[in-house]
Amino acid sequence: ARPLMAGKRGLIMGVANDRSIAWGVAQAVAGAGAQLAFTYQGEALEKRVRPLAESVGSDILLPCDVLDGASLDAVFATLQERWGGLDFLVHAIAYSDKDELKGRYVDTSRENFVQSMLVSCYSFTEVSRRASAMMGPGGSLLTMTYYGAEKVMPHYNVMGVAKAALEASVRYIAADLGGDGVRVNAISAGPIKTLAASGIGDFRYILKWNQYNAPLKRNVTIEDVGGSGLYLLSDLSSGVTGEVHHVDCGYHVVGMKNASAPDI
Ligand code: NAD
Repeated sequence: ARPLMAGKRGLIMGVANDRSIAWGVAQAVAGAGAQLAFTYQGEALEKRVRPLAESVGSDILLPCDVLDGASLDAVFATLQERWGGLDFLVHAIAYSDKDELKGRYVDTSRENFVQSMLVSCYSFTEVSRRASAMMGPGGSLLTMTYYGAEKVMPHYNVMGVAKAALEASVRYIAADLGGDGVRVNAISAGPIKTLAASGIGDFRYILKWNQYNAPLKRNVTIEDVGGSGLYLLSDLSSGVTGEVHHVDCGYHVVGMKNASAPDI
């Protein structure tokens, strides 16, 4: 049988290293036959991302800081020139000053609020506009969110507010682009130990809490997210758009602490 993603070309934004969620998705779609391009943020990360991109046969690796409109323009101009079109996009990008990922949300500064919203929410709107202009029917856009958008999670603070806005924007963008046959979805991933996660206060405690209380009694891996990402980016999910799909070992369905969980 023809591989699921054969003939599909996709841009992966947000790989920092081999622990990145974006890398889990990239491996899954490349394994299913997709052709990939990658962006990286700044020279320091290029060293890490280049060998990963090469290992999945990608020869398009471009710098991109989503706060810099010119670098976004350059990425999509290059893709237009090299590929002449695009089938899917993965956005796995978020940022907040880590001094504000602890303490009280109410103390968030105006400056960090704006910066967090721009990087973690508005950048998806911006890349969706640019990417969808290169897509035909069957195009698929995917971003990453977290349960802290729905419920208060310790230390998630301004990022929870930004993810709530991101999830709302998924629904609005889905409505905007649906007429062109382009789908837009988010994965709400359970906690995973990545570079970005290391900025969140008490992250180890959050991991333990999820492990003990999630129905599957474990934490998710980037491979778990990759499998669900493959589904959402492929034609298998052709009837799905505007969705926030939880890949969290079922954590979000639980209403009360597991009585037999050890004390942590
Ligand atoms: P990561 O550190 O591997 O990836 C974060 C990426 O964001 C990095 O590649 C970084 O370069 C990029 N980035 C930050 N600011 C940028 C900017 N201005 N321009 C371009 N790129 C920028 O961490 P991750 O956990 O894989 O994060 C990926 C996504 O998954 C994020 O949206 C994160 O909020 C989300 N997420 C993470 C978890 C978790 O527990 N790790 C859970 C749910 C959702």
